[in-house]
Amino acid sequence: MDWEDGGATLFTGDKRFDVLVSPYSNGIKTSAILTAASTIGELESLNIKDKIILLHGEIAREQLMPKNFVFYNPEDHQKTISLLENSGAKAIIAATGRNASLAGGVYPFPLIEDGDFDIPSVYMTEEEGLTLLPHIGKEFKLASISKRIMGNGCNVVARNRSESNSRIVITAHIDAKKGTPGAIDNATGVVILLLLAELLVEYKGDKQIEIVALNGEDYYAVPGQMMYIAENHGAFDEIYLNINIDGAGYKTGETAFSLFELPDKISQKVTQIVDLLPDISEGVQWPQGDHSIFVQYGRPAIAVSSQWFINNIDSQDITHTAKDNMDIVDMNKLPTIAKAIKKIILEIQGNE
Ligand SMILES: [Zn+2]
Repeated sequence: MDWEDGGATLFTGDKRFDVLVSPYSNGIKTSAILTAASTIGELESLNIKDKIILLHGEIAREQLMPKNFVFYNPEDHQKTISLLENSGAKAIIAATGRNASLAGGVYPFPLIEDGDFDIPSVYMTEEEGLTLLPHIGKEFKLASISKRIMGNGCNVVARNRSESNSRIVITAHIDAKKGTPGAIDNATGVVILLLLAELLVEYKGDKQIEIVALNGEDYYAVPGQMMYIAENHGAFDEIYLNINIDGAGYKTGETAFSLFELPDKISQKVTQIVDLLPDISEGVQWPQGDHSIFVQYGRPAIAVSSQWFINNIDSQDITHTAKDNMDIVDMNKLPTIAKAIKKIILEIQGNE
């Protein structure tokens, strides 16, 4: 599903409030009484049928996982969504703060970003939410112009000819959030995939190489990832190792190779290789990326990213914003990373 954002307005009388359309929301033009909830308990106790509900404070602290996002979906998110869906509310206004680890660097962040959730919603800053609160019980006019457009997408999967049914899968997501150029997240990852395709032209190792541009990591329903899982149903055991590149090549700091559940011998080998390279070091584990899919299926994985982003994952204001552009990329790092990955691929073979 693609989405067209035509902007939104919110008025009571002639007082206007700043609101943004939630990505992939349905549009609406309505007039209704404003009510508010800051906790799940409060939401549960209110009758919000035919009203506009302002979600603020604790209940709007972190982005609600999309209904059909299966990899991580906390119970309180599911509860909030089901209360809203059964409430008969006309529309939702969310007042949100900063939450970079789950929503990227955007402020305010859309509390709801889900093409499978049908109640129209808009969002605003925490500060704007505070100016709205005294007007509870008043009649509001909300107009939100938002259009869902169905479309097609695909993953790009390339494998070398190989007798082996044991694969090294190298992944990078090819999509970017709307409204960002997506240089670090994740054009650099795609460049490294392409460099590896070229570097591995003469490859004759034991393992099959599979290069995958996944289409959907930054898209609410992760359709490319779901399709990859469906296509590999029952075959994840054939995956020897996943190497996922996401967020690599930031101008400041080193490249981080984070290791997930690697068998000892591979882990030692990778650590040796990484230790010898001046611009690359081992990083701590981080879960927000496609390597997590492989790890959840019990496969070893290496995530390749920038140390700076891992260290600042909760406070950075770059990813998913206009700031994620070419100015923050050190292009020289990309071939170095591609060569390091090639070295790892060649040297870990036969190390079972
Ligand atoms: Zn990403």
